[in-house]
Amino acid sequence: DSSITGLVHPYEELEAQLRGYTIKPADPAYDEARAVYNGMIDRHPAVIVRCADTADVVACVRFARQQGMEVAVRGGGHNAGGLGVWDGALVIDLALMRSTTVDPANHEVRADGGCLWQDVDHATVPFGRATPSGFVSTTGVGGLTLGGGIGYLARRCGLTIDNLLSADVVLADGALVTADEQHHRDLFWALRGGGGNFGVVTSFRFRCHEIGENGVIIGGPVFYDLADTGDVMRWYREFLPAQPGELNGWIGVTRIPSVPVFPEELHDRKACVIVWCYTGPHTDAERVLAPVREFGNPLLVGLQNMPFSSLQSMFNPLLPAGMQWYWKADFCTELSDEAIGVHSKYGEAIPTELSTMHLYPISGAAQQVAPDATAFAYRNGGWAGVIAGIDPDPANAESISAWAKAYWQELHPTSAGGAYVNFMMDEGPDRVKASYLGNFDRLARVKAQYDPDNVFHVNQNIPPAAG
Ligand code: FAD
Repeated sequence: DSSITGLVHPYEELEAQLRGYTIKPADPAYDEARAVYNGMIDRHPAVIVRCADTADVVACVRFARQQGMEVAVRGGGHNAGGLGVWDGALVIDLALMRSTTVDPANHEVRADGGCLWQDVDHATVPFGRATPSGFVSTTGVGGLTLGGGIGYLARRCGLTIDNLLSADVVLADGALVTADEQHHRDLFWALRGGGGNFGVVTSFRFRCHEIGENGVIIGGPVFYDLADTGDVMRWYREFLPAQPGELNGWIGVTRIPSVPVFPEELHDRKACVIVWCYTGPHTDAERVLAPVREFGNPLLVGLQNMPFSSLQSMFNPLLPAGMQWYWKADFCTELSDEAIGVHSKYGEAIPTELSTMHLYPISGAAQQVAPDATAFAYRNGGWAGVIAGIDPDPANAESISAWAKAYWQELHPTSAGGAYVNFMMDEGPDRVKASYLGNFDRLARVKAQYDPDNVFHVNQNIPPAAG
């Protein structure tokens, strides 16, 4: 078909430069390679390049620019809006670039740009150390870090970006630079929260911390009847901020999963849940966790000793890739009585067993960092909230989306304005701007300096400042 042939790019020229390989629409691997974590996303890139190293990434950026092709960058592929793939684009796919190097004595770990958090945990936890990440270890290091990184260690060690020591970045003109506190300082500032707007990070160097006892922590879920949500949330909003950073716990409304680890009589029961993680000395654990064990009338107390990597991977089997996900998000500074009322109401209406709402704390050490010290501006000591309609069946896409939208609509007036960029799908430029508060103008100036043509625009985009 000559109309198709006419559109074909001279990929041979690119392929000759690669240690990795390309996947094109006619290849049998194409459909699997273009699929991302969110099964609602169905995009058709022109070519997917599985890069083997930094030189491959440079070759891709140069080739795409020469050919006038759009570029998408794929790390772990977990993004809510599926921003690791794009119709008609050249996808720089980092899936082959997953090595790590740990230096326990110096509390450092280096991770390639395509690593998942489970790769980093695998490298560090056997040495009793961890780098702050998220709550699910199949998530990509690339996207999670560049958006901020909110996880179990946030109250003790800060966000993921607060532990980033340096990043190797392939820029829009194909140059490779290392950004840290001494070099390319503006770029280093912008990378810490500004998403994939500034280049392709091929390697991250992080600080890692001694946690628990030889990496063993105490954690797990405590479930309460959904009818107790008001009491639980009111207790939690007072209790948590007064605790040492070693104790963290995110709160949500959910349905208890029908899996063998939970008693059968609780399966699919609507609940309010707090998932705790205590990473301090075990000699203090009883005292710190006593109020948690004593509060209210829990349906189930699932606290136990486990390696940190086990808590990190606890939810992985429940959340395989390819399900339908519809996300809505907001930051909130306070868990007000009005908000609690909304959570109780929509908790009752959770449409499918996996659909859920979570509030992730940004307090303790994450709050100590000044709002303008990194691009991540929301340091008010509140929570990053996410409402996620989730189900394996595409036939339920409509109902899970409708629930999430209605829930968000009613909750939004109680929120702080913007949302965590890593929890947003496609909400438009005003919402992206609102998420960066006073840092947006500086981000736009750094963007103009490092990517004036907005080559990296398949992301929560920050357009380059004019002039
Ligand atoms: P991708 O879809 O591959 O990429 C996302 C964006 O980042 C794209 O714009 C992409 O271009 C860019 N990008 C990725 N890698 C690079 C790179 N190396 N260089 C330049 N740009 C890059 N977030 C939290 O903070 N805490 C959590 O606890 C948490 N839990 C989650 C649980 C689940 C089940 C899921 C699906 C997501 C969760 N997230 C969490 C959100 C997560 O941070 C985002 O989805 C993030 O975008 C995923 O990164 P990725 O590399 O997997 O995504």
